[in-house]
Amino acid sequence: MKTKLGLLYGGKSAEHHVSMQTAMAVIKALDLKEFDIHPIYITEEGAWIKGPQLTGPVESVTELAYSGETSIAPIVLSQASVLAEDGTGSNDGGFDVIFPLLHGPNGEDGTVQGMLELLNLPYVGNGVLASSAGMDKVIMKNIFAQSGLSQVKYTWFIRSDWEKSREAAYQKVEDELGYPCFVKPANLGSSVGISKCASKAELERAFEEAFQFDRKIIVEEGIVAREVEIGILGNDEAECSVAGEIIPKEDFYDYKAKYEDGNTALVIPAEISDQEYNLLTEMAATAFKALDCSGLVRADFFLTKDGKPYINEVNTMPGFTPFSMFPLLWKHTGVEYPKLIERLVKLAKERHEEKQ
Ligand code: ATP
Ligand code: MG
Ligand code: MG
Ligand code: MG
Repeated sequence: MKTKLGLLYGGKSAEHHVSMQTAMAVIKALDLKEFDIHPIYITEEGAWIKGPQLTGPVESVTELAYSGETSIAPIVLSQASVLAEDGTGSNDGGFDVIFPLLHGPNGEDGTVQGMLELLNLPYVGNGVLASSAGMDKVIMKNIFAQSGLSQVKYTWFIRSDWEKSREAAYQKVEDELGYPCFVKPANLGSSVGISKCASKAELERAFEEAFQFDRKIIVEEGIVAREVEIGILGNDEAECSVAGEIIPKEDFYDYKAKYEDGNTALVIPAEISDQEYNLLTEMAATAFKALDCSGLVRADFFLTKDGKPYINEVNTMPGFTPFSMFPLLWKHTGVEYPKLIERLVKLAKERHEEKQ
């Protein structure tokens, strides 16, 4: 019996285009003898469009997005009916599993996961709680702090408070963190809206920029350190990949470095000592447990010259093209891309069964 897989991609998020690339790669890697693939495209406006079942290769993301029904007009159905059409609740004859290949708000943040829970559909990746807590960098860091994980100093603001007294906000950053500091939208990824600031003037610009993307922002102390990442797979038992290091050519690992110029070097496995690796995997597992993660996570760390690790964040739906860090980490750990997808589908089914 083939697995009937609903692939959710695109999404109402600044990371829409990243998701498009990923979906393309996943579809190419899936074995059509094992999987019935049903692509479901979410437009940047948030409309859900269901294409026909894929029975052959798809060559481009545009073709993928508008496969089938769009020669006349996109058929936009209500979100739930797109998924539930083939049998709500009981899941009989419906999807065996949904793969929400979505990054950022409205997809990686627990909203879609909540809908899938209500529809009683198994889905790949983290549940509602881990997804939403992991999406909000402030909440995530608060939880990490409670688990005793070391982190850089941070503070945060909501837009309306900043609008009321901008000077007080900048003063708070200067008093508590100083320069350089990093200003980030609280709920986003792929470095979208992130700025590094070395002065008050830059800080002002960075606040303006980050508030374009979110009503809440986080400001962090800037650290000089290596960037090392670890992949985790599992549900109750977390398994860690080898470590990988990012060496950005630019000032930091920004959106352009991630997706456009391809200049960043990924060193896998990272050249770190066994002791450092053990420390990082211990922290990664603690973070995974603290947020009650399941399926997969990529944990991002800073590692200082004297070997002190700080956790930066976890990503509950990390970049997932075959050239992204997470799949490469697993490749070097012995799990090739198609196998990785199969593992994730299996973990999704297992978690679903455990809940019943
Ligand atoms: P993604 O989800 O794609 O990993 P993100 O948008 O969640 O990215 P971060 O990982 O928090 O963003 O930050 C992006 C990059 O900015 C980091 O990889 C690092 O290069 C730099 N950076 C972020 N915070 C700091 C910090 N406090 N000190 C030094 N560099 C930082
Ligand atoms: Mg992130
Ligand atoms: Mg992310
Ligand atoms: Mg990161």
